[in-house]
Amino acid sequence: MNETTYNQELLKCNRCGACKALCPTYLTTLNETMGARGRIAMLGELEETRFAPTKKLAEKIFSCMLCGACKNLCPTGINIPEVIYQGRARLKNSFSRGRLVRTILKHSVSRLDTVFSILRGVQKYFYQPLYYSSLLPYIPEITPEPFKNSFQVYKQFKKLSRIAIFAGCSVNYFYPELGRALSKILLAKGFEVVVFKGELCCGAPLRSAGLEDEALSLAKKNIEHFSRVRAEAIISMCPTCTMVLREQYPHITGDTISTIMDINEFLIKYNITKDLEIKPTVITFHDPCHLHYGLGIKDEPRQILKGIKGVEFVEMQHSDECCGFAGFFSLHFKDISKNIGSKKIDNIACTMADTVVTSCPGCIMQLEGLKRETNMKLNIKHIVEVVDEAMRASVK
Ligand code: SF4
Ligand code: SF4
Repeated sequence: MNETTYNQELLKCNRCGACKALCPTYLTTLNETMGARGRIAMLGELEETRFAPTKKLAEKIFSCMLCGACKNLCPTGINIPEVIYQGRARLKNSFSRGRLVRTILKHSVSRLDTVFSILRGVQKYFYQPLYYSSLLPYIPEITPEPFKNSFQVYKQFKKLSRIAIFAGCSVNYFYPELGRALSKILLAKGFEVVVFKGELCCGAPLRSAGLEDEALSLAKKNIEHFSRVRAEAIISMCPTCTMVLREQYPHITGDTISTIMDINEFLIKYNITKDLEIKPTVITFHDPCHLHYGLGIKDEPRQILKGIKGVEFVEMQHSDECCGFAGFFSLHFKDISKNIGSKKIDNIACTMADTVVTSCPGCIMQLEGLKRETNMKLNIKHIVEVVDEAMRASVK
């Protein structure tokens, strides 16, 4: 978004307040400066130089979860999350508590294998004491072998077509088992599978930290790398990555990775879950914000789960409300994150489901942390795990 478009977007706001209706940070704090309308107004004042780029102002703009719940509510069509990204780029140096994350991201994002291997070495000694003293949010153990390094092409004698996987950082470094489950599903259905070692971070963490130039450089590299991968579709199990590649790359680079598909879209399009059965289980579904608001995918996961024999599906109240994760938000605004998360856990508990399924590794991380804190008995699964389990059970 260039300077002129940014200013035009800010001027479009008529202060109606419709965007506050679903804004989780506003609804949790009931503070105008913590809601979509307030943030747009403050960024307008900053542009007009009536507000200075203070630490207090930066906190308000960086406390947005970038969930996108406000986007479709705005009658004048302001792309609120995109405006917030631009605001962050202008205010990043005033957001002092984000300095450490910003510095680490800036210098490490193109060397993530090395960084995560060092972090893995110190995780036990450094991270765990901080987590148990509530100074850091929950993160799972870092894997010794990133998923994208595990293999490159799984060939099939008679292939249906060729599918590439965009694993994303959370699957690569924290949840490689999700990547393996997806590979098994694809191979069992006759697809040739490509895992591309050259994959880089999608850029979402950089954008959320206000590092627009660095995000642009990664986006260009990803577009160039993936243009060399011959595949009918590129599937992602993280809706943030899918949304960034599909919706944001055109904004920041003018180009896109057009074959990117969310896992739920793919499973439905290729009718992968037909005739599956699983041992009787009660399941509820949590809608990740970037799946629901970002990509507009609501029915597909429900259709997949309800179509598996043995699944009793129970809808939870406010299934589309955020879980409170939002990446570094859960680190920088821990109290609000926990507050939002505890409402989600209560809504899950009310369903009496034994399993909550979602479709985002970040949400899984947040739900795992909340489960530990509340000692709740609950299975937390990504939708690929349920499908993989059902496929294995159905061939027995
Ligand atoms: S993106 Fe989410 S948190 Fe940010 S202003 Fe919009 S609704 Fe609020
Ligand atoms: S809904 Fe749009 S026009 Fe209304 S206050 Fe929010 S940003 Fe402004």
